[in-house]
Amino acid sequence: MWKKSSLLLVCLPLLAEKFERVEPHMGTLFRITVEAPSVEIAHAAFEAAFARVHELDNILSDYKPQSELMRLSQTPTRVSSDLFRVLITSQRLAEQTGGAFDITVGPIIQLWRKARRDKAIPANEAIAEALGRTGYRKLILDGSNAYFTQAGMQLDLGGIAKGYAADEALRTLRDRGLSHALVAASGDIAVGEKPMTIAVEPASGFRRRITLSGQAVSTSGDTEQFLEAHGKRYSHIIDPATGQALTTRIGVTIVAPRGIIADSVATAVCVMGAERGLEFLRRQAGVSALIVVDGRLVAATGLFARE
Ligand code: ADP
Ligand code: MG
Repeated sequence: MWKKSSLLLVCLPLLAEKFERVEPHMGTLFRITVEAPSVEIAHAAFEAAFARVHELDNILSDYKPQSELMRLSQTPTRVSSDLFRVLITSQRLAEQTGGAFDITVGPIIQLWRKARRDKAIPANEAIAEALGRTGYRKLILDGSNAYFTQAGMQLDLGGIAKGYAADEALRTLRDRGLSHALVAASGDIAVGEKPMTIAVEPASGFRRRITLSGQAVSTSGDTEQFLEAHGKRYSHIIDPATGQALTTRIGVTIVAPRGIIADSVATAVCVMGAERGLEFLRRQAGVSALIVVDGRLVAATGLFARE
């Protein structure tokens, strides 16, 4: 979902000291809200935070052939600390979820992206072939080197990069003394130390207001991008075990200490489904979940249970 987009700037003071700017990055709109002592300070902070997001896009994008991500191969290559952090977090989650979250699904994602464009589901043979080039155990992290054990592999960080970018943009603001801040990359939102109340909606009709401070929240599900064919709705999230796009109607909202966790865990729980997902979530400290399946609220844990 990362597309190169033209520059759009919206900059307006909301209240006396509240400022907001929206820019397109990573194929979506990033919105940053800060409370700052002056418009100059707010503007300088926006510049720095969006520059950081742009830098991360150049590292993590699978839409940019020259990104650091796309240069990975079977030759061990030293990776930047940003890419390393995203890869190690992804690999840990892959282990913990039995491969439900798997960033090596690149070849499969390519097939389903084409399927959405062509409005036709991929042939079984094509899925089987692509599946042969996936599997998180074939991505090796050795010291600060990364490499594949097989040719034709491709990573896709679409389920984790926006959460990390939100964390890093927020850190840029905090480094400038702005702790009353919010960074939203569509469904991936990170909040600074000062409490902020936001609305989340894992599935339509299930809106909740939550107050976060120094935390992040992400929503994943099938409501935004999907392919409709043979009376089924194919999600942009795929099950790495089968190479098939999800057809279950599941919406998941996850609150976690960091965006990189909230984003990836929300995607993982969609793949695992409510039962396996809840079992996994029970072992995750500081993580709350709201899960809606087929228009029915099936779980509200942690801070969602208290509201
Ligand atoms: P959104 O992109 O709408 O925020 P998600 O955070 O759930 O939604 O990420 C979905 C994206 O994650 C897909 O578009 C794809 O790039 C990637 N992806 C799909 N399935 C998986 C999976 N099983 N494991 C890891 N990443 C996945
Ligand atoms: Mg995600």
